Amino acid sequence: MLDDAMLVRRTIALAHRSVVQGGRPFSCVVARDGVVVAESSPQTEAELHAEVQAVHAARARLGRSKLSGCQIYAIAQPCTPCLTLCHEARPDVVVYLALREEYDPYYPCEIPQKDFTGRLPQTYLQEPDAVDVCRLWAANRHHP
Ligand SMILES: [Zn+2]
Repeated sequence: MLDDAMLVRRTIALAHRSVVQGGRPFSCVVARDGVVVAESSPQTEAELHAEVQAVHAARARLGRSKLSGCQIYAIAQPCTPCLTLCHEARPDVVVYLALREEYDPYYPCEIPQKDFTGRLPQTYLQEPDAVDVCRLWAANRHHP
């Protein structure tokens, strides 16, 4: 059984592995009762965002569209389409480890940010290692 801190480390490790393999600095883990239900770290721009892949996989695995009882961990503050999907899925909470303004200098996001305050439980856990993954991605990109 994984506790909150272990799930946070796993989320960061997934994105870090993606970057080391030449992919993007994003990841998402869906957990329930300390067990990973689904996880994703899409490598290319052409793929769906990590949150979308992980939520779809979690729904398929659990056989239901609602993710009540689940926690969603995203390395970066999710974009509006991802938060909309998370809102529909009704997880217990969405935890993210880097604010948009923290990762934006390294991985600029042009999707406008909509405020989901009060509509979806969200927790920001400040994790400098999460921002470091984005920094590493940017460094690899500019100096391959
Ligand atoms: Zn997104």
